Amino acid sequence: MEARDRRGRPLRDLRISVTDRCNLRCTYCMPREHFGPDHAFLPKDDILRFEHITDVVEACMELGLQKIRITGGEPLLRRDLHVLVSMLRKVHPNADLALTTNGVILGRHAERLLNAGLDRVTVSMDALSPSVYNEMGDVEHGPEATLRGIEKALDVGLKVKVNCVVRAGVNEGELLPLIEHFGPRRVPVRFIEFMDVGTTNRWAMEEVVTSQNVRRIIATKLGEVTPLEATAYGEVARRWQTPQGWEFGTIDSISAPFCGNCTRARLAADGSIHTCLFSTQGKPLMPLIKSGATTKELSMALKSIWTSRDDAYSEQRGPRTASPSERIEMSFIGG
Ligand code: SAM
Ligand code: SF4
Ligand code: SF4
Repeated sequence: MEARDRRGRPLRDLRISVTDRCNLRCTYCMPREHFGPDHAFLPKDDILRFEHITDVVEACMELGLQKIRITGGEPLLRRDLHVLVSMLRKVHPNADLALTTNGVILGRHAERLLNAGLDRVTVSMDALSPSVYNEMGDVEHGPEATLRGIEKALDVGLKVKVNCVVRAGVNEGELLPLIEHFGPRRVPVRFIEFMDVGTTNRWAMEEVVTSQNVRRIIATKLGEVTPLEATAYGEVARRWQTPQGWEFGTIDSISAPFCGNCTRARLAADGSIHTCLFSTQGKPLMPLIKSGATTKELSMALKSIWTSRDDAYSEQRGPRTASPSERIEMSFIGG
């Protein structure tokens, strides 16, 4: 039973936020003035248990789910995350199973995650320079722990990509050092346009460095970059190659939105389902799960949510879309 939304898009990917907490305070995601000591994070009892998550995944499989990404907040803060990975692998042996993490504590988890059945990690890292890393993540430590986490992940055999959000006037100078560091290691860096997600990050168009400018900056030093073919339908990044043979990606969410083939649903840490990153409100699944619904019943509920989906926020960005006071934060819904 495949489900198509009102724009004909199938449900293929599920992003699962396992916690709304994080050990960084990236200014574009969880600015400290809003996520300080007084911030009300989800109480433990309201967070989805691993069994609940696998119930939802099983129900999504009936609708055509192929890719699962564990995210957050910082997913590695969730205790025994490898147990969830092995449960998901058991439920969906053929899924492409990935994790997005800031990598700070990846080094001590990488091997267990691989052995539990994880395929890939995407590590977010916005700078190699300690001072720029401090500024982007609003932390006192530098990128050393994340770099060690990446090396460990590569050593144990996980596939690794790096995500870098680019903010004009803050980390544009880091694009080349990142490519020059990771290119020879065959780790693609994906440069993400700073998005107007949530309500707290004081997004401004002037701070967006477009993919075109990212490519220009790279080409100026490394030579002309050439496009590579997309590897999968619904892929969010456009892939490019430098003359040195180093692959990198751009995620052009602002300058060239890709809602047309957006096949992603998001399961927030409180058990609500969101059909768009810019959703104003999720559909709660917790009551259904807690009432002991069967997989079939959960599938029917998810199908009904998906088939009524009409989201295309990034393509419609402008005065007709939800006012900022209504949007859910990325750390809650899962990036
Ligand atoms: N904490 C993990 C991490 O940073 O990888 C996982 C969650 S984080 C919300 C997922 C991804 O969202 C990260 O790669 C992060 O850089 C990206 N992100 C967060 N806020 C963003 C924004 N305003 N614009 C673009 N990307 C953003
Ligand atoms: Fe935390 Fe990731 Fe958001 Fe940074 S981007 S604050 S690491 S959830
Ligand atoms: Fe998908 Fe919404 Fe992003 Fe468009 S704006 S690509 S529909 S998550």
